Amino acid sequence: MARYKGPACRLCRREGTKLYLKSDRCYSPKCALERRAYAPGQHGQSRKKISEYGLQLRAKQSVRRIYGVLERPFRNYFKEADRQKGITGENLLILLERRLDNVVYRMGFATTRNEARQLVRHGHFHVNGHKMNVPSYLVQVGDEIVVREKSKSSPKFKELKETSVPEWLSSNLKELSGKVESYPARDNVTIPVDEQLIVELYSR
Ligand code: SF4
Repeated sequence: MARYKGPACRLCRREGTKLYLKSDRCYSPKCALERRAYAPGQHGQSRKKISEYGLQLRAKQSVRRIYGVLERPFRNYFKEADRQKGITGENLLILLERRLDNVVYRMGFATTRNEARQLVRHGHFHVNGHKMNVPSYLVQVGDEIVVREKSKSSPKFKELKETSVPEWLSSNLKELSGKVESYPARDNVTIPVDEQLIVELYSR
């Protein structure tokens, strides 16, 4: 399963917005975007007004990068969102939010989505009693996500920090378990993006 392996901060600088791809660093003065608030590369400081297409592209890239999804699977999410009833842009965000790696992150078992993805890939979680190592698995209402017994003593799960868990999920950091209480709503997706721009981009 391919994924972007380059420097995370470069992506934020490219998008011109904080994507929060690292943990504590994103909230500290060490954040690369705080120190160099311009696009990377030779011409990063000389970019001019952004076109409508540019805005749409940046919105799509930001979301893709926040969730760590490559172009082809992202387009598949869009097709699925378009097939569903309701507003395509919202459906898209809700589908992405239901990815297992995102859920593990939102439950507080990892400090970034990237770390969550790695933990899932390494087989540290059970979903409904079965080992699940597919980060793109879409959780369903009622799914119980538990750190595997063998993994509970891993340093990765020591000293987890309490985090604000969205209302559609519940989690117990002491027992290293969590549950999907409902499907997420658009309001539960807190990333700063206008998803309509993505719809416009793919409708060109
Ligand atoms: Fe982005 Fe700043 Fe976090 Fe780097 S430290 S990933 S630039 S928000």
